[in-house]
Amino acid sequence: MQNEKAIKGDFSRSIHLGESRQKPDKSLTQPITQTATFVFDTLDEFESFKAGERENYEYGRYGNPTVRAAEKKLAALDKAEEALLFPSGMNAITSMILAMLRSGQHLILMHDCYRMTVKFTHYIEKFGIESTVVEPGDVEGLDAAVQKNTRLLFIESPTNPHLHVVDLEKLVAFGKSHRIKVAIDSTFATPVNQCPMDFGIDLVIHSATKYLGGHNDLMAGSISGNGGIIAALKEYRNMAGATIDPQSAYLLIRGMKTLTLRVRHQNASALALARFLEGHEKIEKVYYPGLASHPDFIIAQSQMQGYGGLVSFDIKGDLEQTRKFVHHLEIPYLAPSLGGVESLVSHPATVSYYDLSREERLKIGIKDQLVRYAVGCEDASELISDINQALNAL
Ligand code: PLP
Repeated sequence: MQNEKAIKGDFSRSIHLGESRQKPDKSLTQPITQTATFVFDTLDEFESFKAGERENYEYGRYGNPTVRAAEKKLAALDKAEEALLFPSGMNAITSMILAMLRSGQHLILMHDCYRMTVKFTHYIEKFGIESTVVEPGDVEGLDAAVQKNTRLLFIESPTNPHLHVVDLEKLVAFGKSHRIKVAIDSTFATPVNQCPMDFGIDLVIHSATKYLGGHNDLMAGSISGNGGIIAALKEYRNMAGATIDPQSAYLLIRGMKTLTLRVRHQNASALALARFLEGHEKIEKVYYPGLASHPDFIIAQSQMQGYGGLVSFDIKGDLEQTRKFVHHLEIPYLAPSLGGVESLVSHPATVSYYDLSREERLKIGIKDQLVRYAVGCEDASELISDINQALNAL
């Protein structure tokens, strides 16, 4: 039998929390239950299942044992009553918005939320859902954005690519005073570095594609929260068919077991990279919330246990120099994601903001010389030497 009290340490929690020790066929790991539907022996069994007197899975869109096991583990890591999985992070976000808001209601977002999240606000206009996008981290400015019909505040912390950290205590107080639900995209922090539930945030979202999966090999998203809201979101998910497949859920369970190991390593490596970059003559500016020079360092210190694996920085130089730097890197892959064991590098002006004009990009701080480096699990000293040689090539 598992003694929950014996599992206190952060490494043990990732490995054991939320798991039943009694798995099918005495398997140590959760098997992949690869089926579209589940069987009842008689109609009587079906009737007692529908009456809530009997446990049975029914149909793949409504639930699956492998998916459920992943959800229980994630709920435990997020310290939430319940968690729900979705086929991608964006699907979790769009499902939350569509399930929680109806025509005539209003949503507040912060400007530096994930770009697709902000873009989705244009799409929901056709359903009569209004939205206001406020400046990053502008907690005071939120009051001006509130309307009578505001029902949801959705923020991200830390944000992409400048790694702003938003004061969660203030947000929760704001939500309570206006009777607005507060949801956070906590993808960059992970449950290892930040526990929004401890602050009273209503809903925690992750793109599980990133650190939770951790190996750049699956797509998934999640929402954690209290039982009531999650039950309502589940009803929507079951209807909309936003179903994750059991194979991805299995990979996610496997990934979450090493979450603490990986994220602690990535925290330490990213901090070392950030410090190295800050002292380098060919670097203009470093954005990392674990550096005292970051504008949100104090908030980050007070609400995070680590500062994450992402470091953004401006090269001293122009677009051509920056492209040259990126092309000279030998260890990271050039790819638009983060959170896996392989380090990835991205040039936001070319990759995620390619559709904006230079002027539009500059308005939101996406300079030509901005580089986003997602630290993987390689040796930090090798990543630093690699960056050094690429800078020296300029
Ligand atoms: N939230 C954040 C902070 C992200 O960075 C991303 C993707 O990059 C998403 C959500 C969307 O997640 P997914 O790609 O799993 O749909």
